[in-house]
Amino acid sequence: MHKCNICGKEMNTVEDINLKGFVIHGWRCECGNEHSDPRDVDNIVKYFKALKKGVEATVYKSGNSISIRLPKVIADLYHLNSNFKLPIETEPGGIRLKIVKQKAEA
Ligand SMILES: [Zn+2]
Repeated sequence: MHKCNICGKEMNTVEDINLKGFVIHGWRCECGNEHSDPRDVDNIVKYFKALKKGVEATVYKSGNSISIRLPKVIADLYHLNSNFKLPIETEPGGIRLKIVKQKAEA
């Protein structure tokens, strides 16, 4: 239960709050009021702290393919855990992982 501090109604749990360009979890009231999940706000703060040292992926050989290890700060930021397939888009000079969660086949 999460009550709105403006109208007092019960707020709905949502996963699409836009905070500084990050899509995070939280609560939204029918009056339009939004509360961000403090754990997700904390993840954003941790990410910006990590940026000062540099946030990097590590590439490993894995059979005939390679594995890309993402740091915990990124996994937490995007609520990633194991066994998701993320679509890859290529762009000049790099790739972009889309955070569209599709369960990988076991
Ligand atoms: Zn409200």
